[in-house]
Amino acid sequence: MQTKFSRRTIVKGGLTVGAFVPAFAFFAGNANAAGLPPLDVGDPTAKALGFLTDATKVDAASNPTFKAGQKCATCAQYQGKASDATAGCNIFAGHSVPAAGWCKVWAQKPGA
Ligand code: SF4
Repeated sequence: MQTKFSRRTIVKGGLTVGAFVPAFAFFAGNANAAGLPPLDVGDPTAKALGFLTDATKVDAASNPTFKAGQKCATCAQYQGKASDATAGCNIFAGHSVPAAGWCKVWAQKPGA
């Protein structure tokens, strides 16, 4: 038996899936953030971006964009609430970062 789909059915299905996949990814990312493995400071990308688990240890001389008080919890890339001890990071997919961490990609989270 052969099933035929009209072009309209395929387009509607694609639009429906396209609308739900980002929403699902958003909620799945937040829900799984606590279970993510911590980002290793030895990770090549982490090293390249100067990631540290403790922002108070950032060498300001070699990181001129760093300002005291910057940390993952107040970064726009931090996927958790500011009060979360760890959360996912949009830059380091598949890993969690500590609220007290920092890297060169830090950017002020609106309202934080
Ligand atoms: S991008 Fe932001 S949240 Fe992610 S590690 Fe860097 S400072 Fe932390």
